[in-house]
Formats: sequence, C-alpha cells, structure tokens
Amino acid sequence: MATEQQIIDKARREGRSLLTEIESKQLLKQAGVSVIDTNLAASREEAISISRRFGFPVVLKIASPDIVHKSDAGGVKLGLKTSKQVGKAYDDILGAISQKYPQAMIQGVSVQKMARPGVEVIIGMSKDAQFGPVVMFGLGGILVEILKDVSFRIVPLTRRDAGEMIREIKGYPLLEGYRGQEPVDVSNLEELLLKVSDFVEQNPEVKELDLNPMFAYSDGAVAVDARVVLEESKQ
Ligand code: ADP
Ligand code: MG
Repeated sequence: MATEQQIIDKARREGRSLLTEIESKQLLKQAGVSVIDTNLAASREEAISISRRFGFPVVLKIASPDIVHKSDAGGVKLGLKTSKQVGKAYDDILGAISQKYPQAMIQGVSVQKMARPGVEVIIGMSKDAQFGPVVMFGLGGILVEILKDVSFRIVPLTRRDAGEMIREIKGYPLLEGYRGQEPVDVSNLEELLLKVSDFVEQNPEVKELDLNPMFAYSDGAVAVDARVVLEESKQ
C-alpha cells in the first residue's frame, strides 16, 4: 500500500490540492482511523467483482478529483444488494455525472461496504489564522448543517480536551443512548480525536480534513466518507 508521502506526492504531481475520497481514506487509515473497506473500480465489471468480494450490501460513489459533494451530483448509491443493482447503479452514476459535470475528470467509482446504521458524527480539522490547526467535533446530518452544534479545540489535543469537546455539544444525550438506541463508545471517539490531532501535527502539509460522516457504535466507529485538502504547494 502507498505510504502517506506517496499519496500526497501523487496528488502534487497531478497539480491537485484536493485528495479523492479513496486517497483520503488511505491516509487516515494509516493514521489509525478505522475506515470502511473501499476500492476503486475503473469499469462496470470491476465494480461488480469488487462488490462480490466485499459481500453485499455495498455502496457505489463517483470517484473524481473534481467532485466534492458526491450525493448532490447524483453520485452516491446506497444499499446495493445484487450484482444487477451494482451494474445499474454504475450506469446511473456515470449518466448523472456526465449530465451535470461534463468536464469532470472521472477515475471510476469507489465501491465500499455498506456500514450498519449507527450515530453519525463528524470530525474535522481546519487552520485558524490565529490559533493554527483546530479540531472540530459534532453530530452528523441536520444537527451540524442547521443547528451548527459543534465544538472546537486547538491542536495538540489532550485527552481532557477530547472528553470535553464530545460532552459539551448539545446533542450529547444522543451519544449516551437516546430512546433505546445503543449508547456509543465515547472513549473510542476520544481516541479518534487524539489520532486526528496527532495526524495533523505530523502532516503540516494537510490544510483541512473532514470525516463526514463517521458511524459511531457501542463497539467503535468507522468513517464512510473522508476529504483531505493539502496546502498549496510552495513552488
Ligand atoms: P458526500 O460527498 O455527498 O458527502 P458521502 O460519501 O458522505 O457523500 O455519502 C452521503 C451519505 O451516504 C453519508 O452521509 C452517509 O449517510 C451515507 N453513506 C455513505 N457511505 C456509506 C457507507 N459506506 N455505508 C453506509 N452509509 C453510507
Ligand atoms: Mg460526506
């Protein structure tokens, strides 16, 4: 598997500062973050054979360095249960994208295992002009988009920071197991925030990152989408 630096160098050679979902997941996996099994398929046949290898259900997503919001573009198909559904999803995704983004450079589709339902959380990092790298935590979906229920701490995070930032969001009761939902493993989320903080410290070339969303469970958490942006290169 490619090392962190090889993944970054490849993007640089191609003149990109935005890493693809697959590259971003590879980087974060090496940083110890658990990510859902994901592979690039360059053809319909390959998408089907990877799906068979992973086992159904699977998810297909457009893989293009030019498309950031994959579902807005009709580029995400969830819960595919048969080879036939995978083949159709492949055609539908490429059809939708060629309509909406005729100029986009398409690498193929990413095939991934369908994660079982959990509580959706997001973890992010951005660089503040004054404070430098800052890690963000929040609950996924509308809680972040509409209510902006998120917390921030400056890198490097201490374990105490990680614990506080999880507990101070308003939606925290959802993580404790609301109305019969399984309670989430909060100490695992703390570990994750610390791993992201370490990763950011060790990779100053990373300008921004998003794990949006991660699915959190009573026994861990897994990232289903990831996005890494590099600093503009210096030359
Ligand atoms: P976008 O580029 O639009 O953010 P995502 O990869 O986040 O695309 O997919 C959109 C949504 O689909 C996610 O927020 C999540 O709810 C769901 N999803 C994506 N990948 C998976 C997966 N592997 N398993 C289960 N649900 C998924
Ligand atoms: Mg996403």
